[in-house]
Amino acid sequence: FPAAREVDARFAAAARPLAAVTGAEIQSPLIKGGHARYANLDYGASAPALSVVSAYLNEILPYYASVHRGAGYASQISTSVYENARDIVRDFVGGRPDDSVIFTRNTTDSLNLLAGCLPLQDGRPAGEVIYLDIEHHANLLPWQNVPHRSVVAAPTLAATIDRLRDELARGGVSLLAVTGASNVTGEILPIRALAALAHEYGARIVVDAAQLAPHRRIDIAADDVDYLAFSGHKLYAPFGTGVLVGRTDWLDAGTPHLAGGGAVRDARLDSVSWTTGPARHEGGSPNVLGAAALARATQVIAELDPAQWYAHEDAIRSFLVEGLQRIEGVTVHQIFADSSAESSLADGQPGAGTIGVVNFSVEGYDAGLVAAYLSAEHGIGLRDGRFCAHPLLKRLGLPAGSLRASFGLGSRLEDAERLLAGLRQLRQTGL
Ligand code: PLP
Repeated sequence: FPAAREVDARFAAAARPLAAVTGAEIQSPLIKGGHARYANLDYGASAPALSVVSAYLNEILPYYASVHRGAGYASQISTSVYENARDIVRDFVGGRPDDSVIFTRNTTDSLNLLAGCLPLQDGRPAGEVIYLDIEHHANLLPWQNVPHRSVVAAPTLAATIDRLRDELARGGVSLLAVTGASNVTGEILPIRALAALAHEYGARIVVDAAQLAPHRRIDIAADDVDYLAFSGHKLYAPFGTGVLVGRTDWLDAGTPHLAGGGAVRDARLDSVSWTTGPARHEGGSPNVLGAAALARATQVIAELDPAQWYAHEDAIRSFLVEGLQRIEGVTVHQIFADSSAESSLADGQPGAGTIGVVNFSVEGYDAGLVAAYLSAEHGIGLRDGRFCAHPLLKRLGLPAGSLRASFGLGSRLEDAERLLAGLRQLRQTGL
């Protein structure tokens, strides 16, 4: 099996890590018999915070104060850091000048917020939300609380788009909720084409960009995406902050996400008039540092050269997929027969590729046991289970779960090599 030095030059050149920007590498004391560099193949769950982000947090910590509530110097600084973070995030996703940027806890929170803002008729949402059966629970369960229809994806992306068109043509759809990239298989959905389709039938689109944002440039104005949600902790910022960006009219008319201080224009003892703008949904003291850290991380990501960024992940992904396919009993899973493995720089278009996520299973072995073995024997961290996407795992024929290796800026080819070596050893010697 190829050792690091012998790795195919095709992969090695492009897979040079962009690691300089990520935090310190850690050793895994879990490995029996000693420490070894921890091979983090779990960027899809949460990505390590960038070192520039931690440095920035230390810089602004002395100015930590409640925002919008004080005339004091620290309060003014904190308020400007917080409000500035909205503009930075809006720029990062190519938002329109009048788009709202609302800080939330995470993607899940953002999508629940939007579910409370669907236009009403006689006190009920006026239209239905449609979504595919491939979604993460965050982009599935919030819609079950409002009028909705689920659509079963077809074996190809092309046929799936046709199914969505048929569903939209039946009428009465207010919102198409779709993921930008699958958290299970990494396949990218053509959001520009889907936005055009939704608009053709008078619906809006919300893109769950929890996985897409850490791996691809996003331009919601160019792609005509109405709403976009993502999480800081997958985008090299600390836990605790997410974002919902998008068209202001629904958000200003919607039910305030958190009733409380800051969200009101005027409160009386038994009634209230709510304010408009992001504050309507951000009741209570906001997570100022979280928003600032998220905004700082987006600035670093925005500076990456897309070609180099995509090529880095493609190289590791292709190397891993080719290696996995050579190991007997290992199967790599994907949803659509026509997804392209290689990235295209034409983001938002059909065939835009696959982010750095690889899903696989090992015949005869429980996924949880394989993950535990890889951690203990090889210092590898990856995810096993059903990835908060139970309907999709069922449709992939994996009701008991599978394994997911996912990469990011700090990933190295040798992480993928270590995984392949571990799996070969498992096949040869058993557990
Ligand atoms: N959507 C996708 C595609 C995800 O991968 C995730 C997280 O795994 C989420 C939504 C939910 O993100 P969070 O847990 O930060 O709310």
